[in-house]
Amino acid sequence: MNHTKVLYAMAFSCLVSSALILPADAFPQSAFDSRFVDYPVYSGDDLELKVDADGTHFRLWSPRAEAVRVNLYDTGHTGKPFGTLDMKKDEKSGTWTASCGQPLYGKFYTFQVLHDGKWLSETPGVWPKAVGVNGMRAAVIDMSSTDPEGWENDKGPDVANFTDVIIYEMHHRDFSQSPTSGIANKGKFLALTESGTQSPQGLSTGIDHLKELGITHVHILPSYDYNSVDEMNLQQNVYNWGYDPLNYNVPEGSYSTNPSDPASRIREMKQMIKALHDAGIGVIMDVVYNHTAGNDDSNFELTAPGYYHRHWDDGRYSDASACGNETASERRQMSDFIVNSARYWAEEYHVDGFRFDLMGIHDTETMTRVADELKKVNPSVFVYGEGWTAGDSPLAAERRAFKENVSAMNGVAVFSDDIRDAVKGHYSNESDRGFASGKPGLEETVKIGIVASTAHPQVDYSKGNNSRFPYAGSPEMIVNYVSCHDDLCLTDKLRKSMPEASDSLRREVAKLAQTIVFTSQGTPFVFAGEEIWRDKKGVHNSFQSPDSVNAIDWNNKALFKDQFDYYAALARLRRDHPAFRMTSASDIARHIVFDKIDSSKQPNLISYSLVGNANGDSWKEIKLVFNGAPEARTVNVRKGDWMVVARDGKISPESGLGRFAGGRITLAPYSALILARQ
Ligand code: CA
Repeated sequence: MNHTKVLYAMAFSCLVSSALILPADAFPQSAFDSRFVDYPVYSGDDLELKVDADGTHFRLWSPRAEAVRVNLYDTGHTGKPFGTLDMKKDEKSGTWTASCGQPLYGKFYTFQVLHDGKWLSETPGVWPKAVGVNGMRAAVIDMSSTDPEGWENDKGPDVANFTDVIIYEMHHRDFSQSPTSGIANKGKFLALTESGTQSPQGLSTGIDHLKELGITHVHILPSYDYNSVDEMNLQQNVYNWGYDPLNYNVPEGSYSTNPSDPASRIREMKQMIKALHDAGIGVIMDVVYNHTAGNDDSNFELTAPGYYHRHWDDGRYSDASACGNETASERRQMSDFIVNSARYWAEEYHVDGFRFDLMGIHDTETMTRVADELKKVNPSVFVYGEGWTAGDSPLAAERRAFKENVSAMNGVAVFSDDIRDAVKGHYSNESDRGFASGKPGLEETVKIGIVASTAHPQVDYSKGNNSRFPYAGSPEMIVNYVSCHDDLCLTDKLRKSMPEASDSLRREVAKLAQTIVFTSQGTPFVFAGEEIWRDKKGVHNSFQSPDSVNAIDWNNKALFKDQFDYYAALARLRRDHPAFRMTSASDIARHIVFDKIDSSKQPNLISYSLVGNANGDSWKEIKLVFNGAPEARTVNVRKGDWMVVARDGKISPESGLGRFAGGRITLAPYSALILARQ
């Protein structure tokens, strides 16, 4: 593998925005790939390793191998094998098997495949559930020994509707690495098990901070075993997002306190999940089944050469991930791998949700299977992903899990790049502004975001910037956001696109942007630290930037307490008021009424009401007005006994900021007005 190239490519792994819908036959399955159509499949739960009373049993799926052997080791990365087992082929299932009569707990193993007369490099296979340091060898451990106390009763939050979820996207190192976090286990899974941690000013950090903010789920950046951080040299403090998958079914070693002990990373990740569950918070994993860190030396290639990746007709790897390759979910064994891997995380680790990186590389049928199977384990599991790719693919466009195809899937949501780019400006053009920062002409695209890309009689999709038709059949198919780990974070985006403004004015813009996200239909998503005005020193894609760029400075919490309190109030507003959490497109069409505004005369102004006690809300009508203009704006509100919920950068969802009898009311530049009446 060309390490540098892969790391470089990683910068583009997950940021590319929605592509155009291509004609259905634009990329027919290549002739090269059709070679694998007749492969038998095998997805029994004894794949690769099973330990029982009769001993240790190996079964590797590799239909075209000429021979396969297992190498047995005492250690996770050094020394010669103490034994080698030749495997026997089972033609019907395409698997190779070998057994030894005793349980090999504490030992390590690799497989080796004879392909075209050559022994390939050793591989831990594609299904190791435990590994040695750096994931080079699979480990035999007793999984039940990794369960923390009380694990049998552990359960994440029940989720009735996915629009009830509030997602907080975080990286382990960003969240806890700074000395200002007051957290002992910096950059580790265990950081999220520490309660009572404080910033230098005595404000809560860590898990207590999450509880105080009121989010329902944390979405952790890749936490399976990835390639880029050397687990044997952690003192080098190498940072990476982790979008370079090595072993999909094992936690990353660098987040554990002892990567050389195969049980440590498993036990500590479970401890983290249990601590979050005990705090009432769900855990979502960022999964990157769409490509592998290596090409020919990836575990997929060393196990069943050619099968798991897509290729062009000339045999080259196709590269819809922009990371060197893409996987082939349309083939049954790969599809089963994705489905069974997600199910394994939900069952063994009690994971509550999955965010699929570059989901447009996968086929819609596989994604529906993922959601269906997960529902059987836990109906509260939430599945969503990036409904786009980062390059061309041989898979036919109509089969891809694009956001435009989201209605063809069942139980899967997609990120709304519509609301993202319309509210804050284009994701990669740093000087471009959005609706909330004063750019006119984006009103209709923001409205597409407000109605969660569903059909609405007052929304004109022909004026949409990123999408031209109501692609979502339900608000449960949409995740709303203005920023995430990719590209400039909101603070940096506003600094670059509003160079003349003060930081305090930019924070008002940020409040307006997040008010739009939190009150829109669909599921809101925030990037960790933005609630305390975190920045990334202007770095667009900080996938391998040092801690000095990525770590959240918790001094910010005292400095920007007003920002934090505003975000926390938005979370409470949403949780207490089901009007913001409707569950069907027909409810949205019925209960959202936009006020007529001539955008050519009054640009950057949107006004609408949630009417008729929407979705069983205690409030009969909620009026929302967004002013993204650099000047104050006056609007006319019908007479009534209104409670002022939010105005001019202040918010008070419970007791209100005062009463208002209707008539003319003025909004400050870049601000949101929310009124409610019984
Ligand atoms: Ca690793």
